[in-house]
Amino acid sequence: MSKQEVTTVGNLGFSKNGLPLEVKYCTKCVESNQRFIGSAPHSDQKSSQKDHIIFDDEGVCSACRYFEYKRTINWQEREEELLELLARHRRTDGSYDVLVPGSGGKDSRYTAHILKHKYNMNPLTVTWAPHIYTDIGWRNLISWIHSGLDNILYTPNGQVHSTLTRLAFENLLHPFQPFVLGQYNVAPRVAMEKDIKLIFYGDFYPEKGIGSDVDFTQKSFDTRLFTRTEKQDLYLSGVHINDLPRHGITTRDLHPYLPLEVNRLSESGIEMHFLPYYLNYDPQRAYYYSTEHTGFEVNPDGRTEGTYTKYCSLDDKVDGFHFFTWFIKTGRGRATEDAALEIRNGHLTREEGVALVQRYDGEFPQKYFQDFLKYVSLDESRFWEIIDSFRPEHIWKREGNEWKLRQQVS
Ligand SMILES: [Zn+2]
Repeated sequence: MSKQEVTTVGNLGFSKNGLPLEVKYCTKCVESNQRFIGSAPHSDQKSSQKDHIIFDDEGVCSACRYFEYKRTINWQEREEELLELLARHRRTDGSYDVLVPGSGGKDSRYTAHILKHKYNMNPLTVTWAPHIYTDIGWRNLISWIHSGLDNILYTPNGQVHSTLTRLAFENLLHPFQPFVLGQYNVAPRVAMEKDIKLIFYGDFYPEKGIGSDVDFTQKSFDTRLFTRTEKQDLYLSGVHINDLPRHGITTRDLHPYLPLEVNRLSESGIEMHFLPYYLNYDPQRAYYYSTEHTGFEVNPDGRTEGTYTKYCSLDDKVDGFHFFTWFIKTGRGRATEDAALEIRNGHLTREEGVALVQRYDGEFPQKYFQDFLKYVSLDESRFWEIIDSFRPEHIWKREGNEWKLRQQVS
């Protein structure tokens, strides 16, 4: 029986892995109602808790509704709010007063630079290392630091990380889950160690339409998914943490991945905020800003596989497999995500977006395929066997030797 076989129990209209059985596309952008995120380490994830995009009665996604709301925001008031927040945290004794987590991509570059130079803060940056650095990713990290910032590069044990990545690929078709968990945990952990009470993120949930209970005025991070209570069972890569020793991973290997206890985080007094709540953010503008002020370089190949853009997620050779596996599970890929955001920001028409999605979505990340297989110790036939076992029946159909999407945005 296929892992993702559609449930016939009840009349809920959802597949076994929690996706709506009827595929719909937003009438304003190109986003699909199959979009979800699911990386949290609670419960046995077929798995983790998922947060879905919501479509309203008019067939419009919550992210597009956020952008309508965004046009009504009084940015002057928001900036005053920012100034108050920063004034509460600014230090004059030379110690760091804000932590900016990031890879050295356009969002974190913009965030750290503007906090330091426009708002006179003293940021420390922290980077959770990619699985395997690309050349351009490494150059961008170095140029980010050389643009005038202190940085901590936190690199997890390579044996442990590759084993967890393989298990997450096999069990969840989510090879990025261990990376995501580490990335979320590293900032509050470092903030605690360095006694920094303010963390600023460069991205923002509502702009991407994440969250079934999305709140357009949410200014700080929802830590529920990435903290734990004492009693909660935890699963990493789809395996209960008590069973991980069978895979050669012991408790002492898990430090970077285990979510913080919820009490410890709340008692620390650390505040985690989104810059795009306070400042009118536009990814294209952040890209130009980062290039001009911090020497950011785009993909030298011209565009990234699976999409048409050249400036998003460039630093990790495994990155393409994150987007590709997501595409297998939901029928929407990296080009959908990029085009939807650019339509909302007014840089593309819906028609142009549809054409780009039809052309690039789901393109296989061939360039680093052998690097990925080597990293997760799998051969090509096992790779495809796992991929095919996760194709939901309401999204994929088999025609001869080929898998075809049952529908695509039009
Ligand atoms: Zn939309």
